[in-house]
Amino acid sequence: MKKVKHVLGISGGKDSAALSIYMSKRYPSLDIEYYTCDTGKELKETYDLIGRLNSVLGKDIELYKSMDEDNSPMKNPFDHFLALYGGYLPSPTARWCTKKMKLEPFENRIGEEPTISYVGIRGDENREGYISKKENIQTIFPFRRNIWSEDVIKKVLNNSNMQQLKSYYEGLASKDVLLTSMQYVNQPISPKFTQRQKLNALLDVDLQLFNRVVFEFLKTTDYPVGKLDTFPLIENDELIVLDDVFKILEDSGVGVPAYYKPMEYEVEIDGEIKQGTYSRSRSGCFFCFYQQKIEWVWLLEQHPQLFEDAIVYEKDGYKWMEESLEDLQKPERVASIKKEHYLRMNREKARSRTGTSWQDDILQAEGEGCASCFI
Ligand code: SF4
Repeated sequence: MKKVKHVLGISGGKDSAALSIYMSKRYPSLDIEYYTCDTGKELKETYDLIGRLNSVLGKDIELYKSMDEDNSPMKNPFDHFLALYGGYLPSPTARWCTKKMKLEPFENRIGEEPTISYVGIRGDENREGYISKKENIQTIFPFRRNIWSEDVIKKVLNNSNMQQLKSYYEGLASKDVLLTSMQYVNQPISPKFTQRQKLNALLDVDLQLFNRVVFEFLKTTDYPVGKLDTFPLIENDELIVLDDVFKILEDSGVGVPAYYKPMEYEVEIDGEIKQGTYSRSRSGCFFCFYQQKIEWVWLLEQHPQLFEDAIVYEKDGYKWMEESLEDLQKPERVASIKKEHYLRMNREKARSRTGTSWQDDILQAEGEGCASCFI
């Protein structure tokens, strides 16, 4: 049997940190290599978190390097690649930073070895995460009800594979469950019964059975999971959401990265002083262009030196966003961003019967961004 490598990338964000703890405790038999790809521009809290994880996981987190620091005049990855790109700052539409400092080091390090990569997309999120284009790398999502990636589901549920699916169900299901499963297995995917509906129906009937069927299917393919004798995650029926992630981090002693904790700010609205709270909603570089305006204000007030450092990158017409940081830091602009944020948060609090918590703010803010950096 070909050896299969298991890897788990730690971005410095809460979800990948929680996933590493979860996997090490729940699946100690899996020999997982934990790794991180450093940009050299993360917040100190991120480096602290990775340090604490090292001791909880009981093994070193590998650094997948994107450059040879000894042979570059720039002593950190971001500045090295920025120089190569002639000072052209990355943006959501030109995200060379993720490509050069996260994806390429990962794929180069893995090479051609069959590899399973575990990714911490939570059960309460509606996004897929980065799926490598390399066929020898398969992504698994242990926190979700459906642990399989979209490409696997597409193949397993494809109408042309219906006979194969049927025979696996016949071989693996008990009599009662088989009867219920078959009404969905035998129903082809169509505009009236979509792939998502078929998937959810089969997961509802028996999630572990569905996983066993997928495992059998994968044995007939080149997918890395199919090369394993056993795969313990097929018995996993847990769904992990944001609250669980915080609990895993707190219970392990690793704790939640300090920048998620809300800090109070004051803003004058119609002659009255109001108190709001702000925090940073994601890990990643301190100058990340995915930040919301209120997060830039948080950086300005909570980490003024880093804000200054971010300004230094804005030159020769290049900026982190359409508004320059020089403009954003003006007192009247800061007050208007806080006012807008305060009013928006209050509107949302009024709309929700239970009131919003700082976890809700994170849920809202994390919609946009890059899975390699923020999970
Ligand atoms: S955190 Fe933002 S700036 Fe840094 S590598 Fe990721 S996308 Fe790029």
